[in-house]
Amino acid sequence: MNIKKRSFWGLLCLCTLTLTVSMLTNGCSLSSDKNATASKTGFCLDTVVSLTLYGTKEEAPLEECFSLLETYESLLSRIKEGSDVWNINHSSGMPVTVSKETAQLIETALDYSARSDGAFDITIAPLLDLWNFKPEQHEGTVPDADQIQEALSHVDYKKVQLDGATVTLLDPQASIDLGGIAKGYIADRLRDYLISEGYDSALINLGGNILTVGAKPDGSAFRVGIRKPFSESGEQLETVACKDRSVVTSGTYERYFEQDGKRYHHILSPSDGYPVENGLASVTILSPSSTDADALSTACFVLGPEKGLELIESLDGIEALFVTDELEEISSSGFQAYTIS
Ligand code: ADP
Ligand code: MG
Repeated sequence: MNIKKRSFWGLLCLCTLTLTVSMLTNGCSLSSDKNATASKTGFCLDTVVSLTLYGTKEEAPLEECFSLLETYESLLSRIKEGSDVWNINHSSGMPVTVSKETAQLIETALDYSARSDGAFDITIAPLLDLWNFKPEQHEGTVPDADQIQEALSHVDYKKVQLDGATVTLLDPQASIDLGGIAKGYIADRLRDYLISEGYDSALINLGGNILTVGAKPDGSAFRVGIRKPFSESGEQLETVACKDRSVVTSGTYERYFEQDGKRYHHILSPSDGYPVENGLASVTILSPSSTDADALSTACFVLGPEKGLELIESLDGIEALFVTDELEEISSSGFQAYTIS
């Protein structure tokens, strides 16, 4: 995860543009308690985080969620000195003992690498260092082809050895980045905490990575908007109804820079080291687990619509919407069941 400071308001826009969530409650039939909400917005994980609890005015669980966010950030950040990921990346191939959460997340990430035939690969970090994306300023660097070749020679998820909570990089020059999966994982952990405290209606929004907990207090589904790629007015392409479900989008249209009239975005191909160019503008995943939705949105973006759909159809309870640069929509077999016209 690239944790650099950026403008709070810029990110607030980014976050609201990515996915908008309609929270209309059924006012007339609700008791005052059901109408109560508590919410908190802050800057964390290099993005704007917004949490809302329904049916309560309690602020304390929100404070605890923000403290959990800090804890996870200090484990999973690539650039925070002393984090688990930082320790792995500075281990020169020596075994590193990490927290059980980090080990669990790396295990899941490696599983998605295997399922996606390496399209999702957390050892993408040497390439990310070269491209040096600074999304908030829409800046970055187009590396030389030979630099890309050299970095690519260290990209291979099979070189990450996980034994319990011990991680060893079999290639000492390899390094890992969890930016394609960490927000989803953290959203799931916040959900687990809220449920353990008895909060069963909530909305977790980590920079557009949405996880709905339960349903709205009146029992109806949350409505989550999927943004129309490139739309400056924040238009929505689809709205989906969600209970206990995560909605995560990976796209080319937010985190990118332009050079010599060409656009370079931040989802890289582990095969050639360049931003993936396959005619897709975005991929949205619907899944009960936000970890799965996050990993799959990145993986399916890299795989493209054909292989991506094949992967989605092989998984239970997960749906996807692929949107091309021409705004053509390609969806998985069960996606329409969630859409609201
Ligand atoms: P966002 O971070 O905007 O929510 P994604 O979930 O698609 O978007 O994650 C993109 C991030 O994933 C990149 O910024 C980078 O940290 C990482 N990444 C880029 N390419 C890959 C890849 N092929 N496999 C795994 N992670 C990747
Ligand atoms: Mg992702």
